[in-house]
Amino acid sequence: MRALTFDSPQKVKIQEVAEPKIQHRRDAIIRVTHTAICGSDLHVYHGRESGLDPGTIMGHEFVGEIIELGPEVSTLKTGDTVFSPFTSCCGTCRPCTTGLPCRCAMGQLFGWVEGGTGLQGGQCEYVRVPFADSTLKTTGPLLPEVALLLGDVLSTGGYCAEQAHVAPGGTYAVIGGGPVGLMALTTCQWRGARDVVLFDPIAERREQAKRWGGIPADPSEVDRYEGAFDAVLEAVGSPAASLLAYKLVRPGGIISIVGVHNEPHFAFTPNQAYDKNLTVHIGRCPARRLMDELMPQAIAHSERLTEIFTHRVPLSDGPDAYRMFAERKDGCLKVLLSP
Ligand code: NAD
Ligand code: ZN
Ligand code: ZN
Repeated sequence: MRALTFDSPQKVKIQEVAEPKIQHRRDAIIRVTHTAICGSDLHVYHGRESGLDPGTIMGHEFVGEIIELGPEVSTLKTGDTVFSPFTSCCGTCRPCTTGLPCRCAMGQLFGWVEGGTGLQGGQCEYVRVPFADSTLKTTGPLLPEVALLLGDVLSTGGYCAEQAHVAPGGTYAVIGGGPVGLMALTTCQWRGARDVVLFDPIAERREQAKRWGGIPADPSEVDRYEGAFDAVLEAVGSPAASLLAYKLVRPGGIISIVGVHNEPHFAFTPNQAYDKNLTVHIGRCPARRLMDELMPQAIAHSERLTEIFTHRVPLSDGPDAYRMFAERKDGCLKVLLSP
């Protein structure tokens, strides 16, 4: 089958690889119909995150049809259209049963194979999914494109809002107007936020935030908004973004970080956090839980959510699509790839 694989920083390529097989009794094999490039793929692409074996199939956002099931899968059947969170989960360990399936004791991240072990990604024709019953969800009335968003960026935006305790009448800042930041803006609105100011240095992304009812701001406007927000939702993953969050949050406020950070220290010091009586919440989104919780709103707001896809291209154009997304060319906000 054809797959988009990691080669080295700034280099992904289309390669012919072996089709995945059932390895465990609870596995499923999915024929991928929709897959997308995530901002998280860019950490690998740019070499900020290292360790991935060359030849690893990229990607963790996919929707498709079940074509084969292991003998112990009991709630799904071949032919079902399913979507997936970006990590697998067993459904029975303590993290899985306490709302944090992204920290499943046996969970694996799609598209991460290091030193020969790990799970291949979804930017290909067929993908193996462990613990199919507890990992996958059938799309039901969801459009496949919306299901794909719900498997990652929509859930992650929603989790960022949950951890920020976004509530009716509050005033919030979102840092980063990529797909995750825009979904954070959206879920803040679903939760009844009064004002949401979205900070991004890219004019086109601020424009998109404005179209979706956010108040656009450039990070250089920080002085004007210093200490103005009940909570700040950080969806970038850089020291500059975290420092901006620190400046924007009010004393006693919350900084909720879903941006993936690769630096060794927080951008603000414990002493600065103390002086603002801060709560900081950071981490991977438990997407399998949020997929259930946000499904009704995702169905209701399908039309708006799919506006995020600025480009739809065949999988074979993947290498060019990575370049375009990484360099933010041609107004690229999110790319859908069709195997
Ligand atoms: P993206 O790269 O498309 O968007 C990032 C945006 O941040 C861009 O629009 C960029 O202009 C903006 N930005 C950069 N520096 C900024 C600054 N200093 N201030 C304000 N804005 C700034 O990425 P995305 O797909 O939206 O993902 C965003 C982040 O979320 C990434 O770090 C990604 O890895 C992470 N992520 C985390 C989870 C999780 O579970 N926690 C899940 C998905 C994605
Ligand atoms: Zn992702
Ligand atoms: Zn588990």
